[in-house]
Amino acid sequence: MSNRDNRAPGPPLLTVDGIETFYGSIQALKGISFEVPERSIVTLLGANGAGKSTTLKSISGLVAPARGSVTFKGQRIDRRPSEEIVRLGISHVPEGRDLFPELTVLENLKMGAYVRTDKRAIQASLERVHARFPILAQRRAQLAGTLSGGEQQMLAIGRALMAAPTLMLLDEPSLGLAPMLVEEIFGIIREIHASGTTVLLVEQNANKALSIADYGYVLETGTISLAGDSRQLLKDDHVRRAYLGQR
Ligand code: ATP
Repeated sequence: MSNRDNRAPGPPLLTVDGIETFYGSIQALKGISFEVPERSIVTLLGANGAGKSTTLKSISGLVAPARGSVTFKGQRIDRRPSEEIVRLGISHVPEGRDLFPELTVLENLKMGAYVRTDKRAIQASLERVHARFPILAQRRAQLAGTLSGGEQQMLAIGRALMAAPTLMLLDEPSLGLAPMLVEEIFGIIREIHASGTTVLLVEQNANKALSIADYGYVLETGTISLAGDSRQLLKDDHVRRAYLGQR
């Protein structure tokens, strides 16, 4: 069943308003505004270099927008340190996964809980992650750098779950994975959403992303060119031609 069928349109959990982000003199974002409603899945689509990753980084505090605001649970979070943003409930699974290759699977998972102090709650999260990803329990002593690409993606998502996030930012989770694993990763995203976590998803696989999302935004060279209900975007001629490979 699609998550749309039981959608309860909530108030915005995250509001991004007019953000402009620079890398030196290069302006990557030229005034991006959008909302992520509570308990929704929202997807950001766009070609390489459009600014999708920069948008996620501007939310999680990895880069600071020069202008505009990011509001999460009613609080301004732009310009706060990323550690504080994690503590407020935002976990970022970056493109390329950013694991610690020389640490074990279990050590990587524990790193995900670094902002939490309640040992029993952390242990409960670990058990949930192990139940959701049995491979991470089996491979707990293996070095993360020796996992396959799909296993590394699961570890990256598992590590983000260890922070007990309200909002998960996922950057290209299906990148480089075989079709069967892509299905598995999208199934996991659905499960994470069904268990109450709001999801902001960046994907090259526009078809799959729109099929699980409530809303989509299309980025083109640092601006939002199109926004809407994902069912409408799936039917939109421009989206079909540019992102779904259809005529
Ligand atoms: P992709 O799908 O290829 O990851 P994207 O939509 O996520 O693309 P971004 O990675 O956000 O795009 O990049 C937006 C723009 O900012 C691009 O022009 C890119 O070259 C530039 N950019 C990104 N990171 C840096 C950086 N660290 N230093 C300089 N320019 C950067």
